[in-house]
Amino acid sequence: MASQTILVTGAAGFLGSHLCDTLLAEGHTVIGVDNLSTGKTANLEHLSSESRFRFLDQDIIRAFDPGHVDYVFNFASPASPVDYTRLGIETLLVGSAGTINTLEIARKYSAGFLHASTSECYGDPEVHPQVETYWGNVNPIGPRSVYDEAKRFSEAAIMAYHRYHGVNTHMVRIFNTYGPRLQANDGRVISNFMIQALRGEPLTIYGDGSQTRSFCFVSDLIDGIVRLSRSEEHLPVNIGNPDEWTILECAQEVLAVTGSRSEIVRMPLPPDDPTRRKPDITRARTLLGWEPKIPLREGLKLSLEYFRSSVAVAQ
Ligand code: NAD
Ligand code: UDP
Repeated sequence: MASQTILVTGAAGFLGSHLCDTLLAEGHTVIGVDNLSTGKTANLEHLSSESRFRFLDQDIIRAFDPGHVDYVFNFASPASPVDYTRLGIETLLVGSAGTINTLEIARKYSAGFLHASTSECYGDPEVHPQVETYWGNVNPIGPRSVYDEAKRFSEAAIMAYHRYHGVNTHMVRIFNTYGPRLQANDGRVISNFMIQALRGEPLTIYGDGSQTRSFCFVSDLIDGIVRLSRSEEHLPVNIGNPDEWTILECAQEVLAVTGSRSEIVRMPLPPDDPTRRKPDITRARTLLGWEPKIPLREGLKLSLEYFRSSVAVAQ
């Protein structure tokens, strides 16, 4: 494919920085935008001498013009329950004003557009596994609503720009993803368990640990996202690993991979914590020919060195 100029918002974050790496490796020019609210410049340090990469310190809640771009990947948003609870109003604004601002860039330059949506659009799902046609079970006034409803608004805005302005839009509903550069302190389950296990501290299970999640390794996710960006599909597509784990089983996998003897302790379950989550990936399989390749045990091993270095930095 011909070399393009690509805007990536949320570039200093976990997923955005991996996406930048993949696009640069393909020969594209990348403009990375971030306000560093939850991301880190360390995630982009290795690109400091890359002439095809430019960083813009910019809050996407405010309108901006990066100049001509061929494609926009909109990944900026606080993403973990700890971060979006701390940054509640900002999260609502990034999903609403921020999404409209980036859609306007795509409209102005007739660029393609792909948005990082989320399995949280399904809320605490009554349909299992979750298919894209399910409209979800979200508490619109609960503590998670600042994130869930912002992402649902984003999806509505994207469909409107597609329908009314003919923008070539795509949206991926991302299920829990992990790997190197997952923020070590953002409270997500894999980062908490890995750091706790490596420090020999107790692993904190919220509730009885019977709630489930399906964990996708970052390289699998980025592969699915790049395929979707080049497809003709405008409706949401789930990308995630359908291998479903209880949180207790996840803790046991982390203990096995790290060789840690940490004990497991119980903490209160946060309100509205979804009881189960597993993607139906039939659409990704048939439309994109995509399939995750990396099982949880292997992905945790591939993440071990990164979490070890995060523990060393924090000490
Ligand atoms: P992250 O926190 O590591 O990255 C998000 C980045 O967005 C950060 O660098 C942050 O500084 C930046 N950002 C936040 N608000 C901004 C603003 N107003 N202007 C500019 N930059 C801003 O999180 P992540 O896991 O990389 O998530 C990336 C995207 O994928 C998010 O939109 C998230 O909702 C979505 N997502 C992630 C997962 C997952 O499991 N990692 C699951 C579902 C959806
Ligand atoms: N969780 C846990 N211990 C932790 C962090 C999270 O038991 O230290 C649980 C959390 O209650 C949820 C699941 O792990 O049921 C996934 O949480 P995470 O914050 O990673 O993402 P979510 O899928 O809830 O957005």
